Amino acid sequence: MNLKLKQYINGVWVEANSGNTRDIINPFNQEIIATVPEGDESDAKAAIAAARAAFDGGEWSSTPATERGAIVRKIAELIERDREELARLESLDTGKTVEESRGDMDDIAGVFRYYAELADKDGGELIDSPVPNSISRVVREPVGVCGQITPWNYPLLQASWKLAPALATGNTLIMKPSEITPLTTIKVFELMEEALVPAGVANLVLGSGTTVGAELSRNMDVDLISFTGGIVTGKKIMQAASINVKKLALELGGKNPNIIFADADFETAVDQALNGVFFHAGQICSAGTRLIVEESIHDKFVDALVERVKKFKLGSGFDEDTQMGPLISADHLAKVEKYVAAGVNEGATLAVGGSRPEDPELQKGFFYLPTIFTDCTTDMSVVQEEAFGPVITVEKFTSEEEAVKLANDSIYGLAGGVWTNDIVKAERCVRKMRMGTVWINDFNLYFPHAPWGGFKQSGIGRELGKLGIEEYTETKHIFQNLTPEPISWF
Ligand code: NAD
Repeated sequence: MNLKLKQYINGVWVEANSGNTRDIINPFNQEIIATVPEGDESDAKAAIAAARAAFDGGEWSSTPATERGAIVRKIAELIERDREELARLESLDTGKTVEESRGDMDDIAGVFRYYAELADKDGGELIDSPVPNSISRVVREPVGVCGQITPWNYPLLQASWKLAPALATGNTLIMKPSEITPLTTIKVFELMEEALVPAGVANLVLGSGTTVGAELSRNMDVDLISFTGGIVTGKKIMQAASINVKKLALELGGKNPNIIFADADFETAVDQALNGVFFHAGQICSAGTRLIVEESIHDKFVDALVERVKKFKLGSGFDEDTQMGPLISADHLAKVEKYVAAGVNEGATLAVGGSRPEDPELQKGFFYLPTIFTDCTTDMSVVQEEAFGPVITVEKFTSEEEAVKLANDSIYGLAGGVWTNDIVKAERCVRKMRMGTVWINDFNLYFPHAPWGGFKQSGIGRELGKLGIEEYTETKHIFQNLTPEPISWF
């Protein structure tokens, strides 16, 4: 593998202080694909010190925004140059199909390009000051030292949502990728070095959440923590971050409803309901795993889904005809199995799937069959909790009000969809749905220009879009009195 397989701290590629390492496993066959340093608190502290010094030195934050934008654009170009290598690395690490990973790499380059363009577009704004002979301005400045923690499902995509806006706005950062899937993030740090991101500005520490991640969350020299991952971890980070009232951005889980009305285009809705869930074996925060189907078409809809699901081709992400790869790890497979067992115990009906595949060729990988539960009700854990795997639950409704009520019956509020040919009805529904992103006659579509994030317990703040810049900037009001004179109060 043509990769440095090290941490990147203060512009130098380094092993872990402890000398410890971690094997990275291919989820398709459990083979070791790389061995990387396993950093801990001391590595995190060294990286934080480097980022602090680089920020306080002021060089990066005072670099003209146009120049910072040019560096971010260069990173996009290098990702495009190395697209195929990055895509194959991502598939090796995550098990997803190479075709999906290629799509991810295009999206990732797009994110860097988007923030490169925005870097020099916010020159601040003049306020109409109520005070005579004064100038009142609002400017945005970098937050400072940013800790960034990412999950394993879209390793580099999630990293790009954090790296690109942080760099464009003049922050310094410490990135901690998921310990399970660090490879493409390491590669992009190589590309950032090639793009001449100055030493100390972007640092990479590898290791577990409870050591490196916890240090980033509680360290007094970190000004902002941006986290994407599970809700339980998010709550811990929020608590730790309170120590110095860090700015906080949390992108947590989802249990996303997809409402199918009887007047929707049937074939398209079936097809997109599948697309909404089964990419990357359902390991998508915005997967539309909670199907809410109008009673009059329910049986026909479920039959059509089951017929299609039975034909899914599971296999290596490197085979052209594979549609779905494995789950990420043995632990995660066990979690999905437990979740499905709970569904059966709670009285949901297994319409298809519900086990590991029997194919002997798939036994070394963490495969799980695409699974559909019917007869589901909102009190079931299988309907409420995030399985983060290839599992759909189907609920029925008879009225628009009921559909929206079911959709909102969740602690989460990340994303949701509505399928209907009645655009007025669709608009009524999506305005009542309590989620950060809602799709009408689509699912799982996102792009860098639109903000992404959750209502309710799906998170705090927004990534992507112009709001993604706001996460990484502080707002400062500058008031200038043009005719100062004594007030003579005291
Ligand atoms: P996770 O919470 O287990 O881990 C995420 C990251 O947090 C990892 O890097 C991990 O090492 C780190 N971590 C773990 N414990 C920590 C601690 N105590 N302090 C600091 N860091 C810690 O999540 P995961 O299993 O890697 O990812 C799956 C979850 O991510 C799902 O819930 C999914 O919905 C969510 N997710 C959300 C979005 C979104 O945009 N909202 C996107 C992708 C994934």
